[in-house]
Amino acid sequence: MEKGDEALFYHSGEDKAVVGIAKVVRTAYRDSTAKEGDWSTVDLAPVKPLRRPVTLREIKSHSRLKGTPLVRQSRLSVMPLAESEFREIVKMATIVDRLLLKMPVRLGPMANSRQRREMLPAKPRLDWQRAEITRSTFCLVQSCVGAENSRMSTIAATEFLPLVATGAATRDFMVVSLHDVAPSNQQIANTIVSELAQRGVSVCSLLVVPDYHHQGLSTRNHQFVSWLRGLEADGHEIVIHGYFHERPRREKESFHDKFLTRFYTEQEGEFYDLGYDEALSRITRARDEFRGSGLKSRGFVAPAWLLGKEAERAARDAGMEYTTRLRKVCDLRGGDEFVARSIVYSVRRNWRRGISRICNATLFRYLEGRPLLRISIHPPDYSHPTIWRQVTSIIDRAIESRTATTYQDWVAQQRLRRGM
Ligand SMILES: [Zn+2]
Repeated sequence: MEKGDEALFYHSGEDKAVVGIAKVVRTAYRDSTAKEGDWSTVDLAPVKPLRRPVTLREIKSHSRLKGTPLVRQSRLSVMPLAESEFREIVKMATIVDRLLLKMPVRLGPMANSRQRREMLPAKPRLDWQRAEITRSTFCLVQSCVGAENSRMSTIAATEFLPLVATGAATRDFMVVSLHDVAPSNQQIANTIVSELAQRGVSVCSLLVVPDYHHQGLSTRNHQFVSWLRGLEADGHEIVIHGYFHERPRREKESFHDKFLTRFYTEQEGEFYDLGYDEALSRITRARDEFRGSGLKSRGFVAPAWLLGKEAERAARDAGMEYTTRLRKVCDLRGGDEFVARSIVYSVRRNWRRGISRICNATLFRYLEGRPLLRISIHPPDYSHPTIWRQVTSIIDRAIESRTATTYQDWVAQQRLRRGM
């Protein structure tokens, strides 16, 4: 298996079904977890789940798939597949089970006819079939978590949020998010993403600002957009992060307002006290600009996590699936809130850096047993060696027992757990 190969992901447990497309991100190396014998492993990154699982029984009864190794010798863990067979299986997944379309879907009062059409597709979308596949490898990977993930017929939620089709190696998760991404810091953001990947964080959530401090529309920068699309194709997530990422001072502000908007952040709490209409207009503008550029953003995170009640309602009405705050992740559609405090650094002043390091070391120990660990990185963190050393050492320790995921996948998984 070569780097970049596409693979079909197959649940070999109870499900016996192909559930998604994955991609090889690291070629074979010795499996250090094997106690004995000559075992090797490859690293796979999820690309996308199939619209529905394609079962072994269907594959067996398909005339053009009779020759696949899966039918002849289903116990191999990895097997080659002809490109035509790969495409045939992917195509089978687009023939949607009629039952699935009859599933009740909570559309929300604000869903317009276009949203309804998107949410309840009358015919399967085929756009991703045009994706170029150079070589294909068929994978069978045993996974106990997988059995839970693949019951797509029980949830309409996977229609909107992609779910990592791979069975996670661990039970606990970690989301590393990179904040304030804009064309002006693309280079450093790219360096951070590559360094994270080397440390085993193969996917992260990138919080992209549509027009960072009025520097110009991010989506007008073609090179920046194509970089984001490439990241998305590799399994990363693009999240809408405010619109301008700045909040002009108001004339009359309470001490509490001043503290939050000037001391806690540096005039960046754009959605802290924005009215509903303005918030809705900025979020829908961002959403349409991102979608128009081929990005699939499903989450909205306010700068400095300062999201007022009105603005939160606007985010929900704009069709955003979730938001995050400093202390929680909120499913905007399902209404659930998950307590998960984020590790985050303040590097503006020397004393802030010192305090951040002490607090985060304690916080990390405190969060160790939690199912979700959140680490929020800002590009300037990278330029402070003491901060960056601590960030990487926390990540190195966390990745031993956690699987890196994105917010959208994590939220989708919680919906599955709750039977949504
Ligand atoms: Zn920010």
